[in-house]
Amino acid sequence: MKYFSTRGVGPVGLDEALRIGIASDGGLFLPEQLPSFGVSDFTDAVSISDVAAAMLRPFFVESVLLDDVHSILAETFSFPIPATALHVDGQDVSMLELYHGPTAAFKDVGAGFLAGCLSRLASKDDSPLTILVATSGDTGGAVAAAFDQRPGMRVVVLFPEGRVSERQERQLCCWGDNVLSLKVQGSFDDCQALLKAAMADEELSLRHHFSSANSINIGRLLPQMCYFGDASLRHYKRTGNSPGFIVPTGNLGNAFACVMAREMGLPIGPIILATNANRTIADYFESGSWSPRPSLRTLASAMDVGDPSNMERLRKLVGEAAALRGQLRVSSVSDEQIESALRLDFDEFGFATCPHTATATHTWRHLDNELASQHDWILVATAHPAKFETIVEPLIGAAVPVPPELEALLSRPVKSVSIKPDLPSLAAALSGD
Ligand SMILES: *Cc1c(COP(=O)(O)O)cnc(C)c1O
Repeated sequence: MKYFSTRGVGPVGLDEALRIGIASDGGLFLPEQLPSFGVSDFTDAVSISDVAAAMLRPFFVESVLLDDVHSILAETFSFPIPATALHVDGQDVSMLELYHGPTAAFKDVGAGFLAGCLSRLASKDDSPLTILVATSGDTGGAVAAAFDQRPGMRVVVLFPEGRVSERQERQLCCWGDNVLSLKVQGSFDDCQALLKAAMADEELSLRHHFSSANSINIGRLLPQMCYFGDASLRHYKRTGNSPGFIVPTGNLGNAFACVMAREMGLPIGPIILATNANRTIADYFESGSWSPRPSLRTLASAMDVGDPSNMERLRKLVGEAAALRGQLRVSSVSDEQIESALRLDFDEFGFATCPHTATATHTWRHLDNELASQHDWILVATAHPAKFETIVEPLIGAAVPVPPELEALLSRPVKSVSIKPDLPSLAAALSGD
């Protein structure tokens, strides 16, 4: 399989696309064509790893990792991803729980897969790699967890000092010696700018062999397609229906993976993007003009994105606004609506949801009659509510139990280094000065 940039350069192989993350023309990698499947191709697939192996093998043709696909997937899907039935009269609706990984958010899946691929690539050509990641909270923890203790791999996490939740900061700073956690005295944008400056600096890049694990790497999207595929196949085998999915959306990586899975022939019905008050995607669908803007702070902070990068992939794959309107729907959910959805979820489902997941449950409760009555629905739960307990607990008036894996992380010792948001400070920290 060959990969091309959304802006034209290519082709490159999978290994190169994984290693460099972003194309040399600044575009994002897409496979030159998507493989095509029918439900009967999955008759023998028992576990999610089996489904994933069938879906992903075509993407690895010509990769040096082809023979490692099974072991990479076994590592990636080492935790359960259940679709839990919600008991609602007269409707078949369930919640796809993507939050049972080490850092309790769906980003563990993409990070685990990318770590599996990059560490094997590094050991095959015997060249150590330094993975840079700028994070506003969830991504950095997932990437650090995935690369923690892997030989030949070093991770440098850049996060904005004082702007992540206490539990998120613990998850960013509790790792082994191969993870360097840097609190940048600035904003998330400063962290991203610093990462780009470091990767563009030839001398630093040569010395440290940088690679990046940010959310635009194709290696994050590939495994994400698989849980949509697996959940849709299970649903289809049980009911004969192709379920609709409602996906909490920020940078559009997760929802784009769902669209790819549907394009590949998996039994997926309507797809709805649930966004927060950041309306860039919703406005584009309505007006047809693409106008990225600074992000607004909302309760669903991991979705506070004003310029969703994966829109570039979606427009390349599906088309412009008119074409997109025929394939997808968007809903924009305000903070007030998130708050009321968090209360209703707890009352009606009997368990708490997180503020991101609440954009999906709100959207589901307000579907028009036709969509609600003609389809079964799978609501995508992107993080465990215990990560956002300061928002959720006062609203539901109850404590959210902390899952054991998260508890274990939160009790580990932490260490981090505070740096100024400039390249010399980063270079000094990288050299241990
Ligand atoms: C990153 C994240 C999202 C948004 O996912 P995208 O792929 O960026 O659209 C939603 N919920 C949580 C909890 C996240 O961490």
